[in-house]
Amino acid sequence: MGGLFAAHLLRAHGWDVAVFERSGGALADRGASIGTRQELFEVLRSIGIGIALDPSAGVAVTSRICLDRSGAIAGALPVHSVNSAWDRIYRPLRDALPDEFYRAATRVERVEQDANSVTAILADGTRESGTLLIAADGIHSSIRAQFAPEVMPRYAGYVAWRGVIEESEMAAAEHALLFGRMCFSLPEGELLLALGMPGRDADMRPGHRRYYWIWFRPADEAYGLPALCTDTNGRCHGSSIPPHLVRAEVIRDLQHAAEANFAPPLTAIIHRTRQPYPHGIFDVEASRLAFGRVVLLGDSAFVARPHVGAGITKAALDAKGLVEALAAEHDLAAALTRYDRERRAFGSALVARARHLGAYLETEAKQRGGTDRQPETVMQEYGTAGKIEGR
Ligand SMILES: Cc1cc2nc3c(=O)[nH]c(=O)nc-3n(C[C@H](O)[C@H](O)[C@H](O)COP(=O)(O)OP(=O)(O)OC[C@H]3O[C@@H](n4cnc5c(N)ncnc54)[C@H](O)[C@@H]3O)c2cc1C
Repeated sequence: MGGLFAAHLLRAHGWDVAVFERSGGALADRGASIGTRQELFEVLRSIGIGIALDPSAGVAVTSRICLDRSGAIAGALPVHSVNSAWDRIYRPLRDALPDEFYRAATRVERVEQDANSVTAILADGTRESGTLLIAADGIHSSIRAQFAPEVMPRYAGYVAWRGVIEESEMAAAEHALLFGRMCFSLPEGELLLALGMPGRDADMRPGHRRYYWIWFRPADEAYGLPALCTDTNGRCHGSSIPPHLVRAEVIRDLQHAAEANFAPPLTAIIHRTRQPYPHGIFDVEASRLAFGRVVLLGDSAFVARPHVGAGITKAALDAKGLVEALAAEHDLAAALTRYDRERRAFGSALVARARHLGAYLETEAKQRGGTDRQPETVMQEYGTAGKIEGR
């Protein structure tokens, strides 16, 4: 997504671009919902993609509620938002970039540069040179590893379990209570959030949408996380696992924990979810974004925990900031210095904000007994970028 934003904005400023994407097939969403912000739609509009912050972008949410275990509403706030899906943003971005500028199944192995150009060495051995190389290669960026090997994703001490059911699978009473609201549940040291989202292929028709939940649970790095990410053959897949490989007993444990912690409608939805899956939550914070003619952008530079709901917006704003710096400064070095300064300040603040919102979930905080948070505070703060908002 970050690479596509950069390609569009650079083309609009007269640059010749090539996007190298290692994946050969069509990218498909990971079944997760996307929090949206006005700034994201502004960048999309500047590219000529007219999605607005309205129900055409996703499911309109009119309030936030917190359900206690009995099903009583422990708090409510009238907060409006629109909850979208990855594909709803990705598909128009990809479709708007002519195929001649997009090279699928093309992996960048490493990068070389000198005073005059930068070269991507591709997996098939070919070399592609240009003025600037943008490393928008995600949280596990191999280009970041080449230029800043000291920057490693830092485990937050908890995982996110995610799941989705079809809107049509919801009972009428569940739908009436939950679908148009952002529903929170706050067992001690944990957090569940559930809300409606677009259906497959960004289907927005009532009855064809989906209901999504994300449940943050502590899991220690040495045993808890690897155990969750180990399949029936004993293979550990790292800090996440393909949904269809999650072991049945791990899902049964999750369902039992849901029964112990949540109101009946939420428990029923978790039981009905076919393939819930866990993945570890990490912070990534680069201490530098520009290395000669190479810049980090999007998740390769900073990954903020999902609590700020800003991954795609940040990638879009990084791309916008880069193009503005290139347009404003007289030479490349000055532009990249400016990009580094401005986007690093933004990225660091966002990571800090997300860490603050997630501190409640960290195992050590739970052990200290300092995890109590009021439903109103959590509901008010969640998905907001705090002081950095609007920058
Ligand atoms: C397939 C996919 C589905 C996603 N689904 C969701 C979702 O449902 N909800 C959500 O909140 N977020 C989702 N995200 C994450 C979200 O899109 C990102 O947080 C946001 O787009 C900013 O990340 P990025 O573009 O910097 O990096 P990413 O989105 O991680 O993209 C990095 C891209 O670089 C490619 N790549 C990596 N290494 C190389 C290499 N060496 N050579 C060439 N290409 C390489 C990867 O294949 C990937 O397409 C998804 C990301 C992907 C890739």
